[in-house]
Amino acid sequence: MKSFAIALCAPSGTGKTTVARGLVAKRDDLVFSVSATTRPPRPGERSGVDYHFISRDEFQSMIDDGELLEWAEVHGELYGTPRANLDAAEQSRRKLLMDIDVQGARQVAQARPDTVTVFLLPPSTEAWLERLRERGSESDEQLQRRLETAKGELLALEEFDYAVVNERLEDAISAVEAIIEGKRQRSSHAEMEALRRKILEDLSATWP
Ligand code: ADP
Ligand code: 5GP
Repeated sequence: MKSFAIALCAPSGTGKTTVARGLVAKRDDLVFSVSATTRPPRPGERSGVDYHFISRDEFQSMIDDGELLEWAEVHGELYGTPRANLDAAEQSRRKLLMDIDVQGARQVAQARPDTVTVFLLPPSTEAWLERLRERGSESDEQLQRRLETAKGELLALEEFDYAVVNERLEDAISAVEAIIEGKRQRSSHAEMEALRRKILEDLSATWP
């Protein structure tokens, strides 16, 4: 069965990372795509687990060497998906789950049209702002910048294959699982062809 990738996008603070982490914890057919970024780590974030935290020079070398499947500047920092992540997922016959921004999702969808793109929405503006405030990882200025970016991202919703509201975490995770299952069924359609051919052959041999 051919593997495929899933791109999960959402305005900052919607819960995309939480949903992505919940999904990979629950399913061993998914692997989280650890991105490279020039952003400094937040308290508790680990290099190689949450992100590969690298310098601008290192990031530029990755671009120059063609090591990134996609990359974008988001809120003034660089973020990118190492091509190696997709290769490793394919080799282990697992699906790569990417927590990326809208610009990145567009690039991946172009490079790999079989990618499933999912846009996550907060249940309301109040709940969303509350989540951002509670996370408390940004200064007021950084928060303002993220909200500006969010306006553009919300306008891109129509470009996505699916949209999911992250109200109750378990429900959002289940909804993305259902999307993955639907895609898996669709992908296996082609593989049914050999079986269908065999059944038709058997039938004509038995009842010509
Ligand atoms: P993003 O990756 O989209 O920026 P995070 O995953 O960091 O967002 O989540 C932002 C905050 O919202 C975190 O404090 C997280 O614990 C919280 N959160 C995520 N999903 C939910 C949910 N369904 N209900 C309540 N809080 C949530
Ligand atoms: P954060 O700094 O909150 O972890 O992430 C900021 C934004 O960058 C989020 O929208 C996140 O999805 C996005 N992002 C994270 N990794 C990548 C990546 O590899 N490529 C792109 N294009 N965006 C990413």
